[in-house]
Amino acid sequence: MERNITAKPKILIIYTGGTIGMIENPRTRALQPFDFSHLIDNVPKIKKLDYDIDNIQFNPPIDSSNMNPTHWHDIARAIEERYDTYDGFVVLHGTDTMAFTASALSFMLENLSKPVIITGSQLPIGEVRTDGEENLITALQVAAATDPSGQAMVQEVAILFESHLWRGNRSTKMSADNFNAFKSNNYPELARIGLGIYFKDEALYRSPSKRPLKVRYNMDPDVMFIELNPGMTESTLRHLLATPHIKGIVLKTYGAGNSPSDPWFTTAIREAVERGVVIVNVTQCVNGSVHAGLYDTGNSLAKAGVVSGHDITSEAAITKLMYLFGMGLPPSSVKKYMQVALCGEVTIA
Ligand code: ASP
Repeated sequence: MERNITAKPKILIIYTGGTIGMIENPRTRALQPFDFSHLIDNVPKIKKLDYDIDNIQFNPPIDSSNMNPTHWHDIARAIEERYDTYDGFVVLHGTDTMAFTASALSFMLENLSKPVIITGSQLPIGEVRTDGEENLITALQVAAATDPSGQAMVQEVAILFESHLWRGNRSTKMSADNFNAFKSNNYPELARIGLGIYFKDEALYRSPSKRPLKVRYNMDPDVMFIELNPGMTESTLRHLLATPHIKGIVLKTYGAGNSPSDPWFTTAIREAVERGVVIVNVTQCVNGSVHAGLYDTGNSLAKAGVVSGHDITSEAAITKLMYLFGMGLPPSSVKKYMQVALCGEVTIA
């Protein structure tokens, strides 16, 4: 959708919580979420941006370790209800589960053509050395950015953190410490933040569909991770695979998608697949892709009916399963769509 470029950009900030808005509890000295006015009072520079900025906030704001699909629903609802009123959306969020929220929203907000920029910080905004002020201001600028024809530069869910803008459903939290806390290990940055904001046109997502925004609210929580470790016993694996109600599992395997070749292992996996559980093979490595046929140990999983996650992140794989099962699809269709890039989340060779 084109914007009247002579009008001020209209941006909505959705404050969910996270370190960016936290203050120290004087009794316990632990950080806890605080309200939005405190956050904005700490960034007087925002007024220098010639934007129309409104905000809404979670009540109460939360530490993102408490984030769940109900909160994703609330964020998506806030965006849907105000979609036509604003040029872009900035979501302030804790870093711990930011990559999960970014992935979930990328699936839930079908046909998105406006920027949804998620940011937060490692240090609270009231701290002298905070990274929150810069992240918030840059996120607003990214959300307001247009190309010369007035189209939004970013038309997807993205994470802005320190020096990079990443595709949301390709991102992972890499550091509990560094200001550059996020990375997309299998996809290039959407923009580099330096003296300017340098967008990488070839990396930005453009939806092939020109249909209006359609929000899929139903995210099925009956999914889980199983992460392999040397020495995992048959009883542990069978116990996990037999978790009641589980429909989808992201199996975090070694290297290029490898697992033990013991017959008990493959049998337990095959039996779960035959019960209708969709199992997706995602590598534990931070970078690279699953190549099912590369080793015998990877081949046996494919033969047992495990689908390849290719180079998808585990955050995107698990939220994609929630989204596909949430639409009420049968396991065969879920498997099929796990092999299709729906919104730039995976590279299918
Ligand atoms: N525990 C915090 C949260 O995710 C960490 C952060 O924001 O950096 O809400």
